[in-house]
Amino acid sequence: MLLCIATNALYSSISFLAGSAFNAVQHKATALEQLLMIALSLIGIILVQGTCDLSARVCAEILSKRFARNAREELYTSLLGKSQTFHNRQQVGDVMARASNDMTQLSDMVSPAFDIIFDSFSSLVINIAFIGLLNPQLLLVPVLYIVVFYFALRRYSRQLSPVSNQMREEFGQTNAVLNEAVAGIEVVKATAQENQEIRKFITRASRYRDFYVQNGKIQGRYLPTLLLGVALALAFLHGLYLLSHQQISLGALITFMGLMTNLRFVTFMSTWTFSLVQLGIAGARRILTLMKEETELDENAGGYHEQMRGDIVFDHVTFSYGNTPILKDVSFRARPGQTIAIVGQTGAGKSTLTKLVNRIYDVDSGTVSIDGTDVRQWDMDSLRSQISTIEQDIFLFSRTIAENIGYGLGSKADRATIETAAHDAQAHEFIQSFAQGYETEIGERGVTLSGGQRQRLAIARALLTDPRILILDDSTSAIDSATEDEIQKAIRRILQGRTTLLITHRLSQIRWADSILVLRKGELIDQGTHEELLARCETYRRIFSHYDAAVPTTVSSGD
Ligand code: ADP
Repeated sequence: MLLCIATNALYSSISFLAGSAFNAVQHKATALEQLLMIALSLIGIILVQGTCDLSARVCAEILSKRFARNAREELYTSLLGKSQTFHNRQQVGDVMARASNDMTQLSDMVSPAFDIIFDSFSSLVINIAFIGLLNPQLLLVPVLYIVVFYFALRRYSRQLSPVSNQMREEFGQTNAVLNEAVAGIEVVKATAQENQEIRKFITRASRYRDFYVQNGKIQGRYLPTLLLGVALALAFLHGLYLLSHQQISLGALITFMGLMTNLRFVTFMSTWTFSLVQLGIAGARRILTLMKEETELDENAGGYHEQMRGDIVFDHVTFSYGNTPILKDVSFRARPGQTIAIVGQTGAGKSTLTKLVNRIYDVDSGTVSIDGTDVRQWDMDSLRSQISTIEQDIFLFSRTIAENIGYGLGSKADRATIETAAHDAQAHEFIQSFAQGYETEIGERGVTLSGGQRQRLAIARALLTDPRILILDDSTSAIDSATEDEIQKAIRRILQGRTTLLITHRLSQIRWADSILVLRKGELIDQGTHEELLARCETYRRIFSHYDAAVPTTVSSGD
């Protein structure tokens, strides 16, 4: 800021030198000497002013980039800390737009926008002060102009604000549409709906453009650029009037007009900078909305943290997403080391039930406790690090196989442990068959894996952290029969010594279970061993016969 003020003061003093030059030329006797002095001073001033200007710009740029970096870090940390419910509600594309483009708008608001606004307004104040020093009478026109300028700027900002907000919002939506189409490209292509997606995108992109044009129109109607011309003409007339009445010298008139012309900078820049500020504010508002949204789950850092034994108790648990109850009055117990299979039709609430154990969601009423302590009393970090989940939908990062397996341990995972886990998960062999072995990149830049291979990597990942409780969602996994046997072995291996909640439709796996829960529309209608349930539970028999018909190979391959 100080450098900015110095730059402007030096720049405006050039007008004074120009004025003195005119006065010097009028007094021919000493003109040459004086002109030489003036010329030398000009060079000196320009050099110092240039250095100040450059340093001011560097400071502003550093400030703006640090500001953006901190804001990004804060947003990222806040996003990772949000609950699953929060993330379910968000459109990924819109979140990405906020994290990238809105952040850029925020950074642009600091530099160049705030930087130039401060620069131009300090220039305004300095020029007006210099005009006052020159001759207070000369202040008439510039002061009038500033009053008009102030009101015009206020009106301009108010008009821009809603349009800028809508522009940012529309940009986020455009991004969300694009993101969805790219993420779901397989479905789009398989159903030949490219045209529909293109139309949707064009509609969004056009609306974004319309707001952009509207923004441009408001900028185009900005009055001060026009008014400045009128102000300059009036100032010149006023100056000439004072000159003809010998109130000011010719040099002073020249200086006055030089200072007036400097107002051009603040006027022209304000069109652009205030638009940037409005966009920055709109972006900041969107980022803040995201960050401020309630994190529904209390992480309870510093809560109960002990080595887990794996004794899970559901006591009259009821849960709903929004208003429809999904689980109703569910009670059961899984003792340490037991395998509990959960069966039921699709949508019965099996996955939901498992998500209450590691607090992806919290119960509405009743309690879920582990080792006699309500999960809400557990330190979230301690709770989750001792529970592993293998989802139906296995997510692998676009990193190497080794990094994917070692993910749960972060930087603490060494190669030997990773390989042991891969061995146990029956994954070592297929990993070795890749040219780069454990260093093979997965996903976007590397190989794509089959369902069975992904599942074994997920098992290896879960084995590595040696969890006390394992949640295994195997209900929809489509695995070719060649790898079936290996997967079964891997799963069998991973169940040992852990409390496991196993969602499955494989008869062979159901038979390993110590107890089976039968869910129907969110109600736990029976629990017991396979034989007991076959004997007494009609629903179980129906499910069973359904599985029986659907998966004949697993029935005959039972153990
Ligand atoms: P299952 O695993 O038995 O197939 P889920 O537990 O996945 O069943 O789902 C139970 C019910 O909860 C379904 O009716 C489903 O539509 C609903 N549901 C699942 N996840 C969500 C969610 N994130 N938000 C709202 N409803 C959900």
